[in-house]
Amino acid sequence: MWPGPSSLTQRVARFLLGQRCQVCGQGLGPDADIPLCLVCFKLLPLRQGGYCPCCGQFYTDASVRPYACLSCRTNPPPWTRLVFYGAYAGMLQELVHRHKFGRDLGLESLLRFLLIRAWEEHGLQRPDLLVPVPMRPRPVLRRGFNQSVELARILSQEIQVPLGRQVLIKNRDTQAQSTLGKKARLSNVRGAFAAHAAVRGQRVLLVDDVITTGATLRACAKACLQAGAREVEVLVLARAL
Ligand SMILES: [Zn+2]
Ligand SMILES: [Zn+2]
Repeated sequence: MWPGPSSLTQRVARFLLGQRCQVCGQGLGPDADIPLCLVCFKLLPLRQGGYCPCCGQFYTDASVRPYACLSCRTNPPPWTRLVFYGAYAGMLQELVHRHKFGRDLGLESLLRFLLIRAWEEHGLQRPDLLVPVPMRPRPVLRRGFNQSVELARILSQEIQVPLGRQVLIKNRDTQAQSTLGKKARLSNVRGAFAAHAAVRGQRVLLVDDVITTGATLRACAKACLQAGAREVEVLVLARAL
């Protein structure tokens, strides 16, 4: 499951950090194969059932096998599959915040673990290209940090798949999706992205931190398909409740 120390950076980090839980800081045994103590591991459950595998919408009963919701059966999203680690709540929400706003780069081994676990447990195929969802330029300038690029970079190193950092570009500026309702979000980003011809014939995996209504991801997936991508799948850390 956890791929173990695969890079020099990771080995050095492990040495310097002395094998500590990346959430609470508790010391771990020398042979710990995941960057979490048991208590924190239990607070980060991988969602395995009770959701729509197309849009991620949650059902009340988390034990039922994933099945497509009515909305996705009538209006399927442009991607073949959506995979996420868990619900955007509790510890997972806190970690996404810490990474996004605190630039907590020490979280890298933990995020790598979560991404790989979601990727493996849900049986995603190896893509040809990893494509991060572009952020609006102003927040990137303000924070100096683009979380979806960071997540795609971490995954790219681990699974040895090229990172298409500049593959998706924005045709025009958009408003912050968080300020808009569901319908307005769709029109805000409709046609707002274009994909580079590098996606032609490729199996693309779009990477982002959180999916809320999926409007941005839909626009990005459509842009990739219009540019000739063979298939688009989506991997995000968390699905908003
Ligand atoms: Zn812990
Ligand atoms: Zn759905």
